[in-house]
Amino acid sequence: MRDKLLDIYDKLLERYSNQHWWPAVTKEEVVIGAILTQNTSWANVEKAIENLKQQGICSFAGICNIDTEQLKTFIKPAGFFNQKAEYLKNTAEFFLENGSINGLKKQDAKTLREKFLKIKGIGKETADSILLYALDKPVFVVDAYTKRLIKRHNLSKNTDYDSIQRLFEENLEKDTALFNEFHALIVRNAKEFCTKKPQCRGCPLEGV
Ligand code: SF4
Repeated sequence: MRDKLLDIYDKLLERYSNQHWWPAVTKEEVVIGAILTQNTSWANVEKAIENLKQQGICSFAGICNIDTEQLKTFIKPAGFFNQKAEYLKNTAEFFLENGSINGLKKQDAKTLREKFLKIKGIGKETADSILLYALDKPVFVVDAYTKRLIKRHNLSKNTDYDSIQRLFEENLEKDTALFNEFHALIVRNAKEFCTKKPQCRGCPLEGV
């Protein structure tokens, strides 16, 4: 399995090159984006982030200090703004109470993940995105695109979140840079070829 996964990685990297994820200026912005991106496209997240930046509140302190109703209007483009405003507030408060990015980085990934999953609004994919892309922890992020790839290439009998995550984490080095790039490449390929109706012809993973 290790060779298979590395073959997939090499073929994707060869085709697309480095994806430079996560598309954000600060680590706080990564966390905010990870929550806003739930159930919506990145294009919508970008509009919401831009609104927050224009207001000077694209930070944990900014989110905590802004009135919730006002926050909802700024993040409206990302959808589900009532819930997401609450989730952003919960998460920003948690970070500020626990030493923010640098303070939380000192804790191990397993402990952090358990704490994140207790915050209302943070599920496994969001928790792992924050761990990997904001806190530089070697945790593999599993999303719908990853599940699709695993299913279509029959790489695992079990296709639940934890089984797929273990497949990557137990067969590859626990390496932050590798996990960062691998996930970004899977997303890129899912947008280019492995769409709802797969376009296997010309896909870098054709025949893998
Ligand atoms: S488009 Fe086809 S070959 Fe490419 S990843 Fe999806 S299933 Fe595999």
